[in-house]
Amino acid sequence: MIDETVNIKLEDLGYDDFFDLKWKSLELKNASAGRVTAEHKEAYKVKCSDGEYLAKITGKQIFNATTRADYPAVGDWVAITKLDKVRAVIQNILPRKTILQKKYSDKEAVQIIAVNIDVALIVESLDKDYNLNRFERYFVLTDESGIKPAIILNKIDLVAEAELNEKIEQIKNRFGGVDIISTSAITEQGLGELMNYIIRGKTYCFLGSSGVGKSSLINKLLKSNTIKIGEISEATGKGKHTTTARGMYFLENGGMVIDNPGIRDVGIAVADAGIENVFDEIILLSNGCKYSDCHHIHEPGCAVLQAVKDGKLDQAKYQNYIKLKKENEFYEMTDFEKRKKDRKFGQYVKKAKKRLKDFES
Ligand code: GDP
Ligand code: ZN
Repeated sequence: MIDETVNIKLEDLGYDDFFDLKWKSLELKNASAGRVTAEHKEAYKVKCSDGEYLAKITGKQIFNATTRADYPAVGDWVAITKLDKVRAVIQNILPRKTILQKKYSDKEAVQIIAVNIDVALIVESLDKDYNLNRFERYFVLTDESGIKPAIILNKIDLVAEAELNEKIEQIKNRFGGVDIISTSAITEQGLGELMNYIIRGKTYCFLGSSGVGKSSLINKLLKSNTIKIGEISEATGKGKHTTTARGMYFLENGGMVIDNPGIRDVGIAVADAGIENVFDEIILLSNGCKYSDCHHIHEPGCAVLQAVKDGKLDQAKYQNYIKLKKENEFYEMTDFEKRKKDRKFGQYVKKAKKRLKDFES
């Protein structure tokens, strides 16, 4: 018989001291470590050192699960028991290093989108849709997820160098020491730099509005057309996103990219907690507000408003803060969404139980 052992190094899949410590503390017997690279209904593709398995979770896990967060997600490190050469059962999910999630006000109702991402590449394009404020939204998200953010300014072929430099200056002034890479997926400028930025064994995701060029950039990195490029809609000049692929992609240089529709939507919902960190300046100022529950909009004795008036606080930053706050309150308010989600989770559990039965029989 031909030995088909592939021998992938776990380190190349992102395994490191963090996960090794967790692994050891579980004291498992007859289990192998693997990484969830895709989700197929209630089965998971798990990559191990000797190949890929289609894995299911146990009935006990389904029974004990109280939220969607108790289920594996793309990027998870799991302990599996192999049933044969292609099938396995997931015994444990290792604690996560980072969690990219949509959050609702009810702390239970989180939607996990991907986990264990090291760096989020926030893509913005230098065309007419360019928006400096939009970065803030993504920083909130990465901040809250524990993911390191970096910025990609794409479509540099559409602007003169002076304009690009000006934009870079603005970003630096506003956001400080964040890494910025400028690229064009068309002329391929900056792609070498982007490739070098991506490190073997680390996991990345591309965040950004539809049409900024995420698919184009990932395809360039993959040197293939795995991800469908949205056609430009003539009415809006915006790219329609047509991504159908789900899961994790492996780049030639050893980096990994998680891309799925959830990641593409994630920028829309901004969680509350993160806002506080991104706008520490405002939080600090708010200590001086007359009322402790001051909204910093029209309250008398508001130290934040005073700082804007005195030119001590950037007006744009202030306005963006208020805008994000409002959006966030909107998300907190949507009970309908929450109900819909709870129902979805119920259906998910029901289906998972049924599929597990089919799998075991
Ligand atoms: P996504 O929605 O972020 O994945 O964006 P796509 O990769 O689908 O790209 C949207 C549109 O922008 C497509 O028509 C691409 O060909 C175009 N595009 C992507 N990158 C660039 C670039 O660097 N320069 C220019 N001029 N167009 C680009
Ligand atoms: Zn105030």
